[in-house]
Amino acid sequence: MSVSDEQRSASPSEYAGANAHAFGPGRHLRSRSKVLPEHARGHNRALVLQTLYHSGAMSRADLSRETGLTRVTISDLVAEFIADGIVIEMGVREAVGPGKPPILIDIDRFGHQIVGLDLSGPDAFTGAVLSLDGDVLERREVPRPKSPDGEAAYAALRELAQTLVEASTQPLLGVGIGTPGVVRPDGLVLSSPNLGWTNFPLEAKLGVDLDLPVLARNDANAAVLAEYTFGEAKADFMLIKIGKGVGAGLITGSQPLLGSRFAAGEIGHVVVGTDGGPRCACGKDGCLEAWLSVSRLEAAIAADPEARDEILRDAGTRMAIATAPIVAALDLSEVVISGPAELLDGILIEAAIATLRARTLEGVFEDVVVRLTHQEDIVLRGAAVMVLSGQLGVS
Ligand SMILES: [Zn+2]
Repeated sequence: MSVSDEQRSASPSEYAGANAHAFGPGRHLRSRSKVLPEHARGHNRALVLQTLYHSGAMSRADLSRETGLTRVTISDLVAEFIADGIVIEMGVREAVGPGKPPILIDIDRFGHQIVGLDLSGPDAFTGAVLSLDGDVLERREVPRPKSPDGEAAYAALRELAQTLVEASTQPLLGVGIGTPGVVRPDGLVLSSPNLGWTNFPLEAKLGVDLDLPVLARNDANAAVLAEYTFGEAKADFMLIKIGKGVGAGLITGSQPLLGSRFAAGEIGHVVVGTDGGPRCACGKDGCLEAWLSVSRLEAAIAADPEARDEILRDAGTRMAIATAPIVAALDLSEVVISGPAELLDGILIEAAIATLRARTLEGVFEDVVVRLTHQEDIVLRGAAVMVLSGQLGVS
């Protein structure tokens, strides 16, 4: 019987407060860098927290078995985590053999919270206080500035963040932000035309203003992390986020793909086909975003309700034409779509599946899945994964 089986069969009273949440094993983002001796300690810390996060409460002996680290190393690390307030003892499990019943330990899931912010909405910046398991506990929003104005956008987001910090009821592990635009790994927004930011040090500035750790990423890159950690996604997939704009986040080999300009997944302004198409906000004709954004689909259907099916079929076809080379080049197993189900589920996704099949190598890519994500608040939850990953090495 595995450790997690034992936990499931134990009655709740046997270890008061033990968390019912346990995410599937092996959902961690893999590090491609080699573990050097001086990094081993940090690596071991992350490994222990990762194991506890996904498997739930367990004894030090279980943890040693699961991680392959010695009991002495586990004891030292756990003592350190307890002193830091990251891990707590949860009580004892009923003894199954002779000897002292083991004390169960777990990440202090109720002793910390995370603030997540989503700047991708058409009318409002939304935010939430989240649990370490990614559940939304409190929700707030502020109106989004009507026109691109970097200062006004920052003022609105800071106000939202401060309101949420005040609404939190436990010490905060950090603040995560998903924003439209191209974002460097250190949280500097290289370019976000809709918000009026160019080379804007979002992470550093808000970190000083809030006096908390802040992490900022592109909104689709945040969403893909949420799907990876909390959803059912595989090790190689892309998530296409369809809202005011269209963008994608990619995970390959269990690792976020950023690219040479940190712009991997910026597929919204790729022109699809050579036959023109709707005029895009960027000035070109037939960008993927011009076919597929929620506002474009809604406007086209409102203008000609009888053509609804055809409009959705065209959009799904164009999405797959743009996606097929990416699926083939990276050998992805899934394309996950995030956006309003009433528009995207059904005709649009069916057209995308048919087109993807028709445009990729027979016998190889036939099992590629195209589906809608089940997750709501995907950017907020992704922002929580950013903080978990950045602060604890957990994802
Ligand atoms: Zn465009």
